[in-house]
Formats: sequence, structure tokens, C-alpha cells
Amino acid sequence: MNFVQKVIAAKCPICEQEKVFESSGNILVLKAPKMNEACGNCGHKYETEPGFFFGAMFVSYGMIVAELGALYFVVQYFVSNLEALIAIMFGAIILTSFTNFKYSRLIWMHMLTSTDKQID
Ligand SMILES: [Zn+2]
Repeated sequence: MNFVQKVIAAKCPICEQEKVFESSGNILVLKAPKMNEACGNCGHKYETEPGFFFGAMFVSYGMIVAELGALYFVVQYFVSNLEALIAIMFGAIILTSFTNFKYSRLIWMHMLTSTDKQID
């Protein structure tokens, strides 16, 4: 599996067997994604050190900038009102927040946890 496939599969970066997230969450009912603490198969602890996922914030920022850029590129042809455009952008930020949270953590985790580096 390549990097993108691994992230989309949302499985443990070491054994690629267990799902990292217990639930994906749902923004419509304000249910946040729930992440498992460790892999049930190989025991790999996902938060390897305190603040490990701090860097995922920067990944999330990059994701939302790319998403809003793409959305603006499409929406600008249909919406000429600036206030409506801003409202659409804020709506997109809210609607993608849980997905960005989940995938930014997965990208960060898979970037920093490579099976090639494992000794045991
Ligand atoms: Zn595992």
C-alpha cells in the first residue's frame, strides 16, 4: 500500500490491521471522532509522546487551505456576493472539521511512524 492508501484505510501505521478511530464522528449530531489509545493487534500506542498530535494541527491547516482554495475556485463562478461567499466558506470549515481532524492525525501518524524504522 502506498502512503495515501494507508491514510485512507485509517489503520494502525505499524501492523495495518486495526482501525485507529473507534468512530469517525458526525458533525450533524456534533459527535466528535473517537480515537483508540493503542492498537488492539500489535499494541502500538498512537500518541507516542505527550503532544505528539500537536503537529497534526499544521497538517489540518494545510488541508483546510487546500479545501477552501478548491471550493473558492468552483463557487466563485456561481456566487458573486462576498457575504454569501464568506458564509459558504465558514460552512465548509465547520462541515469538514471532524474529517480534517481525523485525517490530519492519520497523515501525521503515518508520516512519523514508519514500519521500516521498527526494530522489534
Ligand atoms: Zn497495530
